[in-house]
Amino acid sequence: MTTSEPDFEDCSDVLEHLYAFHDHELTEAEADHIREHLMACEPCLDSFQVEEALRALVRKCCNTEAVASAKLRLRVQATITRTVVVTEAE
Ligand SMILES: [Zn+2]
Repeated sequence: MTTSEPDFEDCSDVLEHLYAFHDHELTEAEADHIREHLMACEPCLDSFQVEEALRALVRKCCNTEAVASAKLRLRVQATITRTVVVTEAE
């Protein structure tokens, strides 16, 4: 681990840190980098929002019907499917 300047050059770096960002495990400077990238990069912003939606669903697990639009639910399902595939490949 290094405490020097954060270095999120491309999308894979940002996506890798997305979970830590959500969990507030990044330094202020790192979080700023992520935020800046998300503002400029639509695919990453998309992933960020799906992750956020997933967390909201988990938080409101007893009330899922009221949470997501059908469109959002499709995106969440796609993410879950991708996650399962990745997990099984390991
Ligand atoms: Zn990106």
